[in-house]
Amino acid sequence: MFLIIDLHTHTTASDGSLTPVELVRYAYNKGIAAIAVTDHDTMTGVESAAEEGKKLGIEVVPGVEISVDFKPEMHLLGYFFNKGYESIFNILKELREKREQRNPKIIKKLNEMGFDITLSEAESLAMGGIVGRPHIARVMMNKGYVSSIAEAFDKYLASGRPAYFKKEKLNPEEGISVIAGAGGIPVLAHPVHLNMDFSQLDSLLGNLADKGLKGIEAYYTDNTEEQTMEFVRLADKHNLLVTGGSDFHGSFKTDIEIGIGKGNLKVPYILLEKLRKACGQ
Ligand code: AMP
Ligand code: ZN
Ligand code: FE
Ligand code: FE
Repeated sequence: MFLIIDLHTHTTASDGSLTPVELVRYAYNKGIAAIAVTDHDTMTGVESAAEEGKKLGIEVVPGVEISVDFKPEMHLLGYFFNKGYESIFNILKELREKREQRNPKIIKKLNEMGFDITLSEAESLAMGGIVGRPHIARVMMNKGYVSSIAEAFDKYLASGRPAYFKKEKLNPEEGISVIAGAGGIPVLAHPVHLNMDFSQLDSLLGNLADKGLKGIEAYYTDNTEEQTMEFVRLADKHNLLVTGGSDFHGSFKTDIEIGIGKGNLKVPYILLEKLRKACGQ
């Protein structure tokens, strides 16, 4: 039997719509063998997800996703954290504080542009979790200012659009060492979103591997099959682990389904075994 896994998912701890427990049940019911919970800037969802996973018999891998300073955007994933999450806890807290400085700027700009929207509306959608741009996009959609979350990003919120504000971030090297310093495995998330050609990505990976990057998310929702093969080839070349996931956000990204992404994703279980071995689990 071909076991599928999903090493990139979000919960209500950040900008997913399912609670950690709901997410694990959902994945279990879809027949997925293992998931990683990779919320933005927080690991508060990991514990309850892992407990639920134990009850049901589905593996739950502790993870996190952080944005690092790079144009247009670069995200890093971290997995396992052998030395306990404590060592990364303070840095994640700082990153969340930076985020709290950015959100009011976005809202203010949108207000100036004539949109009647408040931060507390976004906060109430976040249900106590971290407020991110998808929540703001959802408020805009609910109020009829845009017809989809994607449209809110494309017109206003994405990098380079009028209501985009940079938040202060770690640089890629710092991001890698923060994850590695806590015993985590640092992985470059969704390389397809870097919009680089093969040779640019080749040299970037050489560079990041020198700084301690251990893996690349070669399997991802938005890849073509050719791109996935290209990323796997580059991983081999730079001696990097390969991971894969859907970037499931529940109703904040309705076109992405857990495990299968937009329908074509299939992440083999063997990748998780290699990942686990690499960090001595
Ligand atoms: P934030 O953490 O507030 O910077 O927002 C990051 C979230 O926004 C992640 O879930 C991204 O996948 C999502 N995101 C970033 N750019 C876009 C885009 N152009 N379209 C849709 N979602 C996006
Ligand atoms: Zn997200
Ligand atoms: Fe991401
Ligand atoms: Fe993500």
